[in-house]
Amino acid sequence: MTTAVREVSVFGDAIAYFDEAAALVNLDPGMRAILTHPSRQIIFAIPFQRDSGQIEVYTGYRVQYNFARGPAKGGIRFHPGVTLDEVTALAFWMTWKCAAIDLPFGGAKGGVTCDPATLSQSELERITRRYAAELVEVVGPDKDVPAPDVGTTPQTMAWFMDTYSMHMRCSVPGVVTGKPIEIGGSRGRVEATGRGVSLCALDEMERLNMAPSRTRVIVQGFGNVGGIAARMFADAGCTVVGISDVTGAYYNAAGIDIPAAIAYAQEHQSLDGYRGGDKIANAALLEADCDVLVPAALEKVLTVENAGRVKARLIVEGANGPTTPEADHIFKQAGVVVIPDIIANAGGVTVSYFEWVQDRQGYFWKESEVNERLKELLLTNFHIVRDLAHARNVTLRTAAYMVAIERVVKSMTIRGVYA
Ligand code: NAD
Repeated sequence: MTTAVREVSVFGDAIAYFDEAAALVNLDPGMRAILTHPSRQIIFAIPFQRDSGQIEVYTGYRVQYNFARGPAKGGIRFHPGVTLDEVTALAFWMTWKCAAIDLPFGGAKGGVTCDPATLSQSELERITRRYAAELVEVVGPDKDVPAPDVGTTPQTMAWFMDTYSMHMRCSVPGVVTGKPIEIGGSRGRVEATGRGVSLCALDEMERLNMAPSRTRVIVQGFGNVGGIAARMFADAGCTVVGISDVTGAYYNAAGIDIPAAIAYAQEHQSLDGYRGGDKIANAALLEADCDVLVPAALEKVLTVENAGRVKARLIVEGANGPTTPEADHIFKQAGVVVIPDIIANAGGVTVSYFEWVQDRQGYFWKESEVNERLKELLLTNFHIVRDLAHARNVTLRTAAYMVAIERVVKSMTIRGVYA
């Protein structure tokens, strides 16, 4: 018998999670209608010149999902799979993520359908500057504040900030976060998402009586989020038994030397050829023996196809949307705890918030201060979500959406934004 694989949009899946929580907070149908429609979707052409002189045209997107709690906030993705559907889902998630951590932001996301691996630095700069110029009227520290995501870096943010500042005729560091420290970035921002993943995981492990010294962790994706999370798990005394990137997966039951793997990936631009573990198929890594699984690459990797074979007791979603609703249901039935993306990977946007505050103050904090405030804000809100999950006997994901929906609805009601 073959299992039918349901083909739905990423945004469709995202709404499925939302609806479950919306029913539990008795969301008014009118409010549901507002909250399941993005405020603004922008699609535009990005013509640019290749280094060879050839002209090409890429497509750029920015979706500003909701502004009820403050300026829209969300990353910019450069990836061949970027579509309006994906960007809309990511903007939707940002709305709930910012609310779940109680940040004064709405939700947004943007992207360009392109493959950064095939583009030179100067080509990437031209694409980024054109992308920023197209959005000048709708972004800004009080309107919409982009940040890095898959395929974009602090350098991308520097080009974006510079282009926006040229148009404004003054320096506006608060237009983007995730910038290099020299031009208004925050200390601790680069590590923040991976740090948040490990903070949430270690907190939940303590509740589940999982001592770090006896805990084996697998991390899928070895970029900003996965690489840093792996390092922090290792620093906390866990054994990281598996890692992967787009070139392949590596498993070592005795533990992977994470600093050596990070150095290898930095030197070779990927894990390709890494010898510190047995090379296995990327898909097999998700089902390999471990206690904690951290999907930190792309969405929809834990599906109805593989969820039943996942060995982990705790899944911590470093990536956005790595678990389909069907897989989530299987995990729930099996008693596998899932810390959802909108909490687990919220460390990045939390320190982005700190960066925005520091840019506006023109006063910059020590790294220890950033890290302490991150821990406090993230874990305070994680505990609110966990207490609700236990009180209402729902998953952490449903509870996180319930908390977030109630906060957004409260802001909308007070503002009367639907009037
Ligand atoms: P990144 O580009 O730095 O790294 C992505 C990693 O995933 C790379 O190592 C890549 O090789 C790997 N990868 C891609 N396809 C893969 C596959 N099929 N199998 C295994 N590995 C694969 O991106 P990132 O910033 O680390 O983001 C990763 C995820 O985390 C995304 O879902 C992103 O939306 C989410 N996220 C990032 C941040 C942030 O601050 N960077 C914040 C919140 C959420």
